[in-house]
Amino acid sequence: MVHHKDYYQILGVARDASAEEIKKAYRRLALKYHPDRNPGDKEAEERFKEASEAYEVLSDPEKRAIYDRFGHQGLSGQGYKTGFDDFQDIFSTFSDLFEEFFGFSSGFGRRESSRPRPGADLRYDLSIDLEEAAKGKEIEIEFTRLEACNTCGGTGLRPGGQRAYCPVCQGRGQVVHSEGFFRISSTCPHCRGAGTINADPCPDCAGQGRLRRKRRLTVDIPPGVDTGTRLRIKREGEAGINGGPPGDLYVVIHVRPHKLFERHGDDLFCEVPINFVKAALGGEIFVETLWGKERITIPRGTQPGERLVLRGLGMPRLRGGGKGDLIVQIQVEIPRKLTRRQEELLREFEALEEEKKEGFFQKIFRREAKG
Ligand SMILES: [Zn+2]
Ligand SMILES: [Zn+2]
Repeated sequence: MVHHKDYYQILGVARDASAEEIKKAYRRLALKYHPDRNPGDKEAEERFKEASEAYEVLSDPEKRAIYDRFGHQGLSGQGYKTGFDDFQDIFSTFSDLFEEFFGFSSGFGRRESSRPRPGADLRYDLSIDLEEAAKGKEIEIEFTRLEACNTCGGTGLRPGGQRAYCPVCQGRGQVVHSEGFFRISSTCPHCRGAGTINADPCPDCAGQGRLRRKRRLTVDIPPGVDTGTRLRIKREGEAGINGGPPGDLYVVIHVRPHKLFERHGDDLFCEVPINFVKAALGGEIFVETLWGKERITIPRGTQPGERLVLRGLGMPRLRGGGKGDLIVQIQVEIPRKLTRRQEELLREFEALEEEKKEGFFQKIFRREAKG
């Protein structure tokens, strides 16, 4: 299981920090660990990524509320994808913010609110049984995601409405302000660089162009998946913005522990008890496998803890075909109670063992006497 660091700890802020404090903390970390300042420094890259992930969640009131109550699992459970794939992803998400922080947005292109952008990828955590992981299954999942609004077709405008010129930048998309000796041009905060604003928003999506909706989907789980396997389902993530393509859905598998079998890669491991007589004499027993009951031969003189390997009765290999092995570890059971007759027989057995031992010592004694 992946261990997640606490977002508040990453940013070094209290749990009740204000939005302004969170932003300040992220600004400090983004300045310190910005890849332009730390070329090739893996540690700085990681810090930059994790701070960006923490900020992305804590700066969004909805995500922050879910995180506060339910943690990382809550976010993924509700279909939010956290974290970034790469710097490009971070820079394009925060381009406005970075312009505000640094006066530039790292050359990764300014975000314009009218530019088509792909929808976010989503993550869905799916718990399944070992049997399902072994045999594969079609499973219906349900999650919420942002879908394009039908009323406005994703434009965010009231049907028949028009975008208006931005009154702050008069349609230029840029605003100029002075700071000391410098005149700095930056993206217009009102229209986010588009030059136009949505003055007549669609009533259904409040001008967002997208709505959070429930989605049901049948996922085909292939045989052999394991905890941590990610199944990518193309175009089932969030709807794109301004006609951009939808994101992808990643179904992350978690296989529940099984009462009989322990999994090691493609091999399965189990313990099978046999009684001490069978261990001594050998014989046949039936063992439970994921693929039905199997008859196996216990060799004469089997010792406690000895392992028998049943080839090809483990988990299917996700790639490459075939199956792993089932490893059976023998437990030898000693009876707690005996009938009178059983005890008689064991006493007799014991006497024979004593004779065997005496014979053995006599042999040694004789050898020593000779020498
Ligand atoms: Zn709409
Ligand atoms: Zn503007």
